[in-house]
Amino acid sequence: MSEVQILASVQQFITRQHGHFIHGQCTDAESSERVALVNPATEQVIATIAVATEHEVDQAVQSAHDAFHHAWADTSPYERGQKLNKLADLVEQHAEELAQLETLTTGKLINLSRHLEVAQTVVFLRYFAGWATKIHGQTMQPSIPSMQGEKYTAYTMRQPIGVVAGIVPWNFSLMIGCWKIGAALTTGCTIVLKPSEFTTLSLLRLAELAIEAGIPAGVINVVTGTGQTGQYLIDSKYIKKVSFTGSVPTGIAIGQQAMKNDLTRVSLELGGKNAAAILADANIDEILPTLLQATFVHQGQVCAAPERFFIHQSKYDEFIEKLTGAIQQFKIGSPLDESTMFGPLSNKAHFDKVKQYLQMAQNNDQVISGGKVLAGIGYFVEPTLLKVTGVDDPLFIEETFGPVVDVIAFESDEELITMMNHSRFGLTASVWSNDLAKALRLIPQIEAGSVWVNMHTFLDPAVPFGGVKASGQGREFSDAFIEDYTELKSVMIRY
Ligand code: NAD
Repeated sequence: MSEVQILASVQQFITRQHGHFIHGQCTDAESSERVALVNPATEQVIATIAVATEHEVDQAVQSAHDAFHHAWADTSPYERGQKLNKLADLVEQHAEELAQLETLTTGKLINLSRHLEVAQTVVFLRYFAGWATKIHGQTMQPSIPSMQGEKYTAYTMRQPIGVVAGIVPWNFSLMIGCWKIGAALTTGCTIVLKPSEFTTLSLLRLAELAIEAGIPAGVINVVTGTGQTGQYLIDSKYIKKVSFTGSVPTGIAIGQQAMKNDLTRVSLELGGKNAAAILADANIDEILPTLLQATFVHQGQVCAAPERFFIHQSKYDEFIEKLTGAIQQFKIGSPLDESTMFGPLSNKAHFDKVKQYLQMAQNNDQVISGGKVLAGIGYFVEPTLLKVTGVDDPLFIEETFGPVVDVIAFESDEELITMMNHSRFGLTASVWSNDLAKALRLIPQIEAGSVWVNMHTFLDPAVPFGGVKASGQGREFSDAFIEDYTELKSVMIRY
């Protein structure tokens, strides 16, 4: 099949000299420093983005601060929900444009950009829109002794925390950016986003659509650039909360920086080394399609996807044979070709990192299947299965964030749980079995923020998401996000 036609609107957008999006408009960049955005399938520079100065970051934060106290504070919860729904409508109307921008800058398969990234962005925005009218406090009855017939009552109220800094990674920049926008705007906060330097364009375009949706100037601002830009943002004086999604080392550094600034609140959605446990009774033919999709979606560059497979000894040989056969059928190629099943890694820095892990596996003779870098243009590697030397093998311990999976056999449930939990991370895990009683006994013992049964990687706005151990702090979605974006005020009254 041939590649999809790039829309004229996308061509025009990528050829713009992009600055930032501050107070409702695209601004010219102050600095001449720029970062090249490279199409990972072709290695061609398709656009450049500006690197924000500290002054520009402060301007964006000032605008968000003003909008918080005036424009956004003056809206009713109903209006906030309506505006988020209008933004969701506009994302739907511009779906192909946004999907193409994502695919050009991340190498995400075009159908994944359409049906997961953009389609789920709409679902999440609408979910958050629904919360705007449902955030409330409680009433309490204090037990203070009454000396002269006086009475007491008390209530709590939830108030928006203020200006949020949203720092976004490159793997699902539009969707993750909109998780932060949705949570901030529905609670009454305003936001300054810092997209990844590898995939900046879709959030710049979204900020324009937000103005079209009637969201007042200053409520959503976007400053572009590198990690330094993110640091300016965290240190900017009106930032009340940092919502970060990205790697563990960056998350820990950001957490420390935020705490130093008079305890700026922080929520951290970080990496993982997620485990999938395939129990003795699992039917390999039945589970394989779902497991493959969950593992190799977006070339494994999904924080929630599994990288460690634990297989009951009795099913090990069958599993390896069938899994190897299946991944060797993946059609690797251009992400703009709708028939491609597996695209490139998203950027050169990440490609180099994954190559090192593949080299390590080859040097130690650990490759079961795949393991090679594809010759030619683009950041392509094969989907790969590795055997590990033991639970202290670096390939078993470190997040590759790529299409590289370790397989390891287990015999008893105790051994399974010990090996699954042998990790500093705890983002997600899954159990594959039709023995529900056994799965229900294992689930409480697994150290992870999310555990799936007979599925993995799927997120839903109604279900909280976040990590334990070094995989993060705080929860997104459901009603769990409300606490992170609001202050709880207690009011006590004597009458
Ligand atoms: P990263 O940590 O390198 O960068 C994330 C963002 O932080 C980027 O915008 C970057 O410019 C910015 N940044 C970098 N250094 C900074 C600093 N010192 N101060 C402020 N900002 C800084 O992560 P990445 O490579 O973009 O993303 C991949 C990682 O993200 C993986 O580890 C993956 O598991 C994780 N991730 C987690 C989730 C989740 O929800 N738990 C979702 C997606 C990705």
